[in-house]
Amino acid sequence: MRPEILFPLFKSITSLPGIGPRMEKRVEDLAGPHVADLCWHLPAGLVDRRYQPKIAEAKDGEIATITVNIGSHIAPPSGNKRLPYRVWVNDDSGDMALVFFHARPDYLHRMLPEGETRIISGKIEMFQDAPQMSHPDHILTEAELDNLPLVEPVYPLTQGVTQKVLQKAIRGALKQLPDLPEWQDPAWLAKQGWDTFNKTLARAHAPEDLADLDPNSPARCRLAFDELLANQLALALVRLRMKKQPGRKIVGTGILRKKIEAEIPFSLTHAQNMALAEIDGDLKAPWRMLRLLQGDVGSGKTIVALLAMASAVEAGTQAAMMAPTEILARQHLETLLPLCKAAGISLALLTGREKGKTREALLSSLAAGEIDILVGTHALFQDDVTFKNLSLAIVDEQHRFGVHQRLQLSGKGGAGTDVLVMTATPIPRTLTLTAYGDMDVSRITEKPPGRLPIDTRILPIERLSDMVEGLKRALASGARAYWVCPLVEESELVQATAAEDRYAFLKAIFGDTVGIVHGRMKAAEKDEVMQKFIAGDISVLVATTVIEVGVNVPEATIMVIEHAERFGLAQLHQLRGRVGRGSGKSSCMLLYQGPLSETAQARLKIMRDTEDGFIIAEEDLRLRGAGELLGTRQSGLPTFHFADLASHANLLAVAHDDARLIIERDPELQSDRGQALRTMLYLFERDEAIRFIRSG
Ligand code: ADP
Ligand code: MG
Repeated sequence: MRPEILFPLFKSITSLPGIGPRMEKRVEDLAGPHVADLCWHLPAGLVDRRYQPKIAEAKDGEIATITVNIGSHIAPPSGNKRLPYRVWVNDDSGDMALVFFHARPDYLHRMLPEGETRIISGKIEMFQDAPQMSHPDHILTEAELDNLPLVEPVYPLTQGVTQKVLQKAIRGALKQLPDLPEWQDPAWLAKQGWDTFNKTLARAHAPEDLADLDPNSPARCRLAFDELLANQLALALVRLRMKKQPGRKIVGTGILRKKIEAEIPFSLTHAQNMALAEIDGDLKAPWRMLRLLQGDVGSGKTIVALLAMASAVEAGTQAAMMAPTEILARQHLETLLPLCKAAGISLALLTGREKGKTREALLSSLAAGEIDILVGTHALFQDDVTFKNLSLAIVDEQHRFGVHQRLQLSGKGGAGTDVLVMTATPIPRTLTLTAYGDMDVSRITEKPPGRLPIDTRILPIERLSDMVEGLKRALASGARAYWVCPLVEESELVQATAAEDRYAFLKAIFGDTVGIVHGRMKAAEKDEVMQKFIAGDISVLVATTVIEVGVNVPEATIMVIEHAERFGLAQLHQLRGRVGRGSGKSSCMLLYQGPLSETAQARLKIMRDTEDGFIIAEEDLRLRGAGELLGTRQSGLPTFHFADLASHANLLAVAHDDARLIIERDPELQSDRGQALRTMLYLFERDEAIRFIRSG
């Protein structure tokens, strides 16, 4: 249960001043639904009002705070809305005009009564050599001067939310911050010179100069560390809990594996063998496997997964493998089916499309243990899916799933299910730690032999027609090509429309050999098109990023990506990995719409210069920061309010060690510090892990 002292922070933002029903949605989209979310919304800039010149000295373009006498109001000639309303003000050095467009005279007379003294603050502009100020940010009486923040934080905004509204709401939110217990080790705090959490947060919201906005400022470092510790502690608790449960000793006979290995036309690479050995070690051991298998696109994870599952079957148990999309699940089925047949393993598919009688029949043979390996999508999670004896759960392309789903899937097999998570998105080490700090990691760092390098080119969209000519020639000699259309963030519809347009354009040129798949098509339609592409009945496949993950058509050797500048590098890498899978020489055309920013240029250049996913991932993190790394919020990677992994990688390492140490000394978080740490987990909403302390 969330500690009572935190209740005020988890009230709705509508409890804050100035946030009514109209504002609620906007502020929620910007920061989040709770008061706490506004506390975490840090300024991105500041306005310094400490410059207090006389009127005559006021410099053009500066923010100035000036004490003035109010002179006359000059309304524009009636009816002329384009001319401003002016209020003349003066001090002993001179006078200037305050300028208002679309003015409401009665309001201005109230705010600026003639003959009185006011303090105004705003930007000085020179107009015909005389200073003026349009729409001062603040107009105060001398008595109100104390209310004027001399340095004002400037918050990231969104459409329809003004700085004033947000500042007021955030001030209100910060007032709700309770007296929190200290959860950090005092010696470490002293060493870093860090203040208490509350003082630190207050400071982060009241920057005095630009250095205070730097991720390396003491305040931002402490907040980042708190957040990273919460993340690492939560993962350490999950790990502790998973490891504490007795695993099952799965010892295969090797019989099925031999049969499978006899069927595949290649032998495993050294890296594949190493990974398999690590997995075997976990399967045999009495503890539960919790392992991440990282391997670049095309590094051959699927066969490793199958051989691991074969061991589970040899031991008389079942295995499951989950893919993030229908296309992928089907593809796994097709890859695995001939191998399983040869080995006498019974394999079945369960997706959202298996319905009614088919589904019932499938579920009952699953429960009876007649199915050895079940491949599927999220449908595997459904409550009525029960295995007779699931010992190994594999999640493919994990970056689409979070910790939560990981736990859910492993729950299917009861306590001891071994979990193997496979990801083809090589993520930087720091991110691996934040997302998978609970897991052991195996990496396949080498590709199967004989792969030709992919010729990657960067072209402006203006060269489209040249490219189409080139494509014509390639298709004439039997090539197959993917054509990926612009990614439109958050809108599958716009994305699909763009793809449809391009499809029409290409169809006009290449005729019936062009097909299209996108996320708004029915699964059956998508499959049909994919099948045609696999069979070679169509040779140009126009697609949105639905083909990003895992699709395997070795005959495809050309990848065209439009608006490559809009994609994350990891995504481009994934997409490019769709080609270069067979023996033919492959190429990748990155079409961009200029002009490109320096960062965008650097990013595309990395794509041209290397195919090593791990290098690409590290560079992407460096250039863009973790937030954008995978392009989408649904990436399943944890998000941070304060921590910026490009800047705080060193803090993450400390947090990781600290978390493991804490768990070693106080696994149930019972000590005073342990109790405070619980509060911290709740504060940062990583409290799901707390459930594991007692149960199990
Ligand atoms: P990913 O790691 O991206 O899931 P896949 O498992 O789909 O990669 O493998 C990509 C291709 O490489 C497949 O066609 C697979 O049969 C082939 N492959 C896998 N391992 C080897 C190997 N050791 N030697 C040659 N080809 C291999
Ligand atoms: Mg794969």
